[in-house]
Amino acid sequence: MAHGEKITRNADGTLHVPDFPIIPFIEGDGTGPDIWYATKLVLDSAVKSVYRGKRQISWIEIYAGEKGYKETGEWLPKQTLNAIEKHSIAIKGPLTTPVGKGIRSINVAIRQKLDLYACVRPVKYIDHVPSPVKNPEKINMVVFRENTEDLYAGIEWEAGSTAAMHVLEFLRVDMDVSLPEDSGIGIKPISENKTKRLVERAVLYAVENGLPSVCLMHKGNIMKFTEGAFRKWGYEVAKDKFGDKTLTEAELFEQYNGIRPEGKVVIKDRIADMLFQQVLLRPEEYHVIATPNLNGDYLSDALAAQVGGLGMAPGANIGDTCAVFEATHGTAPKYAGKDKVNPGSLILSGAMMLRHMGWMEAADLVETALKTTIKDRIVTYDLARQIKGAKEVKCSEFAEAVVKRMK
Ligand code: NAP
Repeated sequence: MAHGEKITRNADGTLHVPDFPIIPFIEGDGTGPDIWYATKLVLDSAVKSVYRGKRQISWIEIYAGEKGYKETGEWLPKQTLNAIEKHSIAIKGPLTTPVGKGIRSINVAIRQKLDLYACVRPVKYIDHVPSPVKNPEKINMVVFRENTEDLYAGIEWEAGSTAAMHVLEFLRVDMDVSLPEDSGIGIKPISENKTKRLVERAVLYAVENGLPSVCLMHKGNIMKFTEGAFRKWGYEVAKDKFGDKTLTEAELFEQYNGIRPEGKVVIKDRIADMLFQQVLLRPEEYHVIATPNLNGDYLSDALAAQVGGLGMAPGANIGDTCAVFEATHGTAPKYAGKDKVNPGSLILSGAMMLRHMGWMEAADLVETALKTTIKDRIVTYDLARQIKGAKEVKCSEFAEAVVKRMK
C-alpha cells in the first residue's frame, strides 16, 4: 500500500497535486528495468534535494507487457488502465509488442483506451551531444501529434480477404471507384472534434509558454478532406479559442509588415514534405508543430535524430483525464539486464512529468544535472562511441553521476 495521496482535478480541469502524490509506474520490458531504476533514482533525488522532505513521490508499480503477462496473464490488464486513470499521471518504460498475440501494440492500446490524444515530444539540443546537423542548437520545438485517429486508427483489411473484397465492391458499386482486386485497404479518419482538441492544446501550450508560433503540418494539397480539413479546423479553433492571442501568418504580413506584435502567437501552416526541409534548413522559425498522427510519427523521430537520437528524446501522451510519460525508444532487447543503455529519454520524460505536476524547480534540477553530466563527458556507450575523450559508464552509473551533480 503506497503512503501518499491521489492527484485530483480542480473544477476547471487543472491538476491538484498533493505534496506526497501517488504515481504509478510501469518499468517496461527488455532494458526497461535498467532505465526505470536509473530514472527513479534521479527523480527522487531531485525532489529530495529541492523540497527537502516537504514533497515526495509515492511510487506504485502497475503491470503491462511481458511482466504484465507473467503477473496477470494479460499484456495490458484492466487494473493497469484503471490505475492510470485513477491517479491522473503515470510513467512507463518501453514495452515489447507481442507478435501475433491479438494485440497490435500495447502502447497504441494504452493511448487509445485512455484517449491520450496528444503525443507531446519536445525536441531540444543538449550541448555536447553528437548531432548529424551543423547547428543543432537552433532546434527547439515541441511536436503535438494527434494520437488516436488517421491511418493509426487500425482500420484496415488484408488484400484478398472477404472484408477487403466487400469494401472494394461497395466502392465500385456505390461510389463509382474501381480499385485493383488485389488491393489491401486502410481507412484514414480525421475528425473535426479530435483535430480541434489537439490543436487547442498545442496553441494553449504556445500561449502559456510565450512562444512565437504554432505551425499546422499537413498534406492537404493532396488529401483535401482529411489533412486539408485538419489545416482548416486548426485555424478555426485557434481563432475561436484564442482570437485575442493569435494571428495568422497572412495577417502578420498584411497588418503588421511581418513583425510579430508582442505577446501574439502566429498560426501558420506548412505542407509536410516542405516542413521536413524547413526543420533542417531554418529550424529557428518553428516552435510548436501540430499535426495528424502519421506525419507526427515521422517528424518527431526525424527531429530527435537531428538533436542526437532517440536515446535522449522525451515524450508524453496526454489526454483530458490523464497523462502517461514514456521513453520514446523501444526495449532494445539485446542489452536487456546489461545495465548498459542510455536512460536519458526516460529521465527527461520524468522531468516533463514533474513540470506537468507544477514541480518546476525539481524538473529544472533534473535537466541541468543531466546536461552537466554530459558536458563532463560522462555518458553511456551510445554517446561514448561518438564523443572524443568520453568516459563510458553503465546506465546506473550515469544516473549516479547525474545525482552527484545536483549537490
Ligand atoms: P529499439 O528497442 O528502440 O532499439 C533499436 C536500437 O536503438 C538499439 O539496438 C540501440 O541501438 C538503440 N537504442 C534504443 N534505446 C536505446 C537507449 N536507451 N540507449 C542507447 N541506445 C538505444 O527498437 P526495436 O529493436 O525496433 O524494438 C524492440 C522492441 O521495442 C519491439 O518489441 C518494439 O515493438 C518495441 N518498441 C516499443 C516502444 C515503446 O514502448 N514506446 C517503442 C518502439 C519499439 P544500437 O544497438 O545501435 O546501440
